[in-house]
Amino acid sequence: MPVLVMKFGGTSVATLDRIRRAAKRVGVEVSRGYDVIVIVSAMAGETNKLVGFVQDTSPLFDAREYDAVVSSGENVTAGLMALTLQEMDIPARSWQGWQVPLRTTSAHSQARIEEIPTDNITAKFGEGMKVAVVAGFQGVSPEGRITTLGRGGSDTTAVAFAAAFGAERCDIYTDVDGVYTTDPRICEKARKLDRIAFEEMLELASLGAKVLQTRSVELAMRYKVKLRVLSSLSEQTDGSGTIVCDEEDIMESNVVAGVAHSRDEAKMTLVSVEDRPGIASSIFTPLAEAGVNVDMIVQNISEDGRTDMTFSCPTDQVKRAEKALNDARTAGHMTFTDIKADTGVAKVSVVGIGMRSHAGVAAKMFRVLAQEGINIKVITTSEIKISVLIDRKYMELAVQALHDAFELEKAG
Ligand code: ASP
Ligand code: MG
Repeated sequence: MPVLVMKFGGTSVATLDRIRRAAKRVGVEVSRGYDVIVIVSAMAGETNKLVGFVQDTSPLFDAREYDAVVSSGENVTAGLMALTLQEMDIPARSWQGWQVPLRTTSAHSQARIEEIPTDNITAKFGEGMKVAVVAGFQGVSPEGRITTLGRGGSDTTAVAFAAAFGAERCDIYTDVDGVYTTDPRICEKARKLDRIAFEEMLELASLGAKVLQTRSVELAMRYKVKLRVLSSLSEQTDGSGTIVCDEEDIMESNVVAGVAHSRDEAKMTLVSVEDRPGIASSIFTPLAEAGVNVDMIVQNISEDGRTDMTFSCPTDQVKRAEKALNDARTAGHMTFTDIKADTGVAKVSVVGIGMRSHAGVAAKMFRVLAQEGINIKVITTSEIKISVLIDRKYMELAVQALHDAFELEKAG
């Protein structure tokens, strides 16, 4: 029998009614002849509540016990989903991560999947079971302790199961009906995409389009798992949602697939650092060690052997970045005269694999921003993405203007 993986996020299993609704969708796929692996998240809000319990109990918590607590939300929904399916006369049972066993590294709260043996579940399918319900987000370490895969990790569980079982597709049911050209809350002309390439989705996911955990997209790309993102709250047809697939499976597309934004960015400038070999390393090593997520980096023009170094990071990491840099200076690893932090910036990016073969996308982007009177503070580019840092108050305007200019409301 072909295998289908269906993942239901927190809003899709938020109440017993929603679980019943999801189970009906599973029933439809079973009647089409699939052996179904259902991956469930915890009920909406549940994981946040559990994280709060841990923090209130022990501020410097033991990460192994954190995982024991926060993984438990998925145990509840897995069992309830199996019971709901049984009530519908569909042979189903639940598995917790350790029972599969989904083996991970020991990096508690951020564990990576190492192996998913398939024999156990395949044997049950052979005995007539129709649905294996697996608790998402959790696994077991080589030491036999419960681990979790990072927030949003059940997307990654779903893709990993789809890869391990050679599933025909991995359907991700969520509270939006697909991936959009941009955030519909900012731009009312945003259009749902029928298809998007893995690489584009990866850029959009890492830019904060919170539909899929970034790691799940990386994994899907590596194992060529065809993903479909769709809503569990609206009626489904075969063409519903957005397919995330290999670029070869996309016939025609716009040069630009989408416009992404990231609101809480900060621009930091280290004034007058020495311009010598090793300076970037002495700045960014302590930042990395302090867990600062540096994104864009610009080294300014050098004068008299000194230069300014500018980088961006999330606003809530500014204090940590300042401390790491000041400590590195005190330790004598480098010198600078000042750290300037501008916490009022946002990042706007255009993304599309079509940029590889079309020139002029950057020029057009800059022209559009100029016409709106928006000043660009930092620019970075990759093969399929151009990002700019601008004043946060212009973010919405920039997104709308770019969406219009690249005519994203029209299908390619
Ligand atoms: N329940 C976990 C979380 O909220 C995992 C997930 O839903 O993907 O992060
Ligand atoms: Mg999620």
